[in-house]
Amino acid sequence: MNAINPATGERVETYEIETADDVDNALKAANEAYEEWRIRPLRERERLLTEVAEELRENDRTYAEQITREMGKPISGALAEIEKCAWVCEHYAEHASAYLTPEGHPSPPGVDARTVYEPFGPLLAVMPWNYPFWQVFRFAVPALTAGNVVLLKHASSVPGCAMAIEDAFRQAGLPEGTFRTLLIDADLVDGILGDDRVRGVTLTGSGPAGRAVAATAGEQLKPSVLELGGSDPFVVLEDADVEAAAEVGTQARMQNAGQSCIAAKRFVVHTDVHDEFVNRFVAEVESLTVGDPMDAETDVGPLASEAFLTELHEQVERSLEAGAHAVTGGEPLDREGAYYPPTILTDVPEGCPVDAEETFGPVAAVYEVADEYEAIEKANDTRFGLGASIWTADRKRGRRLAHDLEAGCVSVNQLVKSDPRVPFGGIKESGYGRELAADGITEFVNRKTVWVE
Ligand code: NAP
Repeated sequence: MNAINPATGERVETYEIETADDVDNALKAANEAYEEWRIRPLRERERLLTEVAEELRENDRTYAEQITREMGKPISGALAEIEKCAWVCEHYAEHASAYLTPEGHPSPPGVDARTVYEPFGPLLAVMPWNYPFWQVFRFAVPALTAGNVVLLKHASSVPGCAMAIEDAFRQAGLPEGTFRTLLIDADLVDGILGDDRVRGVTLTGSGPAGRAVAATAGEQLKPSVLELGGSDPFVVLEDADVEAAAEVGTQARMQNAGQSCIAAKRFVVHTDVHDEFVNRFVAEVESLTVGDPMDAETDVGPLASEAFLTELHEQVERSLEAGAHAVTGGEPLDREGAYYPPTILTDVPEGCPVDAEETFGPVAAVYEVADEYEAIEKANDTRFGLGASIWTADRKRGRRLAHDLEAGCVSVNQLVKSDPRVPFGGIKESGYGRELAADGITEFVNRKTVWVE
């Protein structure tokens, strides 16, 4: 398994792929670790989480550089990602006890009936490369705190991050086997999920991978959570603060070189402010620094691989052929590495790739709409339903329109972002289930009723 630096095309390191026998040993170890881990007092598991947070903060530069080398995220973003992982550890260290205490319910006379939350056992996590630490932590931390143990099959492009995460948990003092990285090809996932020792699965990634894993989970009758792709709308109404919308919209689309499931991808703008918004948006986007991701001043680094660049550019070219207009960007940069310029397309025809497909790179599609009804119609005109952002000076109007948007998370006058304090997840083809907050920790627990007479 080769890790390639997308900024240079050079090999970072080669890792040996694990065999089916290695996986079997890992499952055995996970199962043994689970028997010990699940009976540890919750406060002890919470304490270990604070150690994980400390480990991450003490070595943030080392972990962040691993991210930057393997998938090209600018170092400032990689450091912020490590800090967010420390935050989610602290969040569950503080709140897990409350989240894992079910609401009481009335018992029949003479009966003490209670619900208790108990872990399921070893869980499989199939994860993507785009936030290679955060995606893993936001699932693993609540799952471990609830008493489950975790087996990670990370994206094959970030094996060094996968190993570093396992190491962070080990350094913090979690017992051997509670968190184990499997350096395996995706075709072993099916067999692992079919193993009786594995009790559930979560996948963050693309639709095809989600469908494959959900099909096996269904066949095996095992619980699953899917966090899949998105084509989030960013709606700017006529009464919006256009300057703020353009500034935040730039961040919402161009963060992580546009490789975010909850990036704003389709900008739906009221005709009264359309031209002003496009002018400001172009100015903001053109002021971004594209360059070496190890440089602290860089805003936009390379895409995670040459293959992603080719795929993205094909989507742009086919959209231009269909009648879209590039107001900035639109051609790969003439330099070493998988760099694509921040790009804005207007006059985007219905059904062209940037309209109908997920674009996983720094490409924004802008639409002009006549009124709020048309805005909501266009915003919902997608098979995805992850996040949505809506901009209006009238917070009541924003709250009302949030109900009409088909998404798992709606932000009014803000970009969509995940936050340990609130649930995160999608609807439609963006998946099902929730991560973070109380919802995240109760996805993989047995809500057991205990009835005592
Ligand atoms: P991907 O190609 O679907 O890969 C995700 C993970 O699934 C990788 O570990 C991959 O392993 C594995 N995988 C691929 N095909 C599989 C199969 N048939 N069976 C089992 N496992 C399989 O996605 P990606 O390119 O890494 O990530 C980008 C996608 O993830 C985008 O669509 C993005 O929107 C989505 N995403 C969603 C969220 C969310 O929270 N909703 C967050 C981040 C990203 P290999 O690498 O070995 O192929």
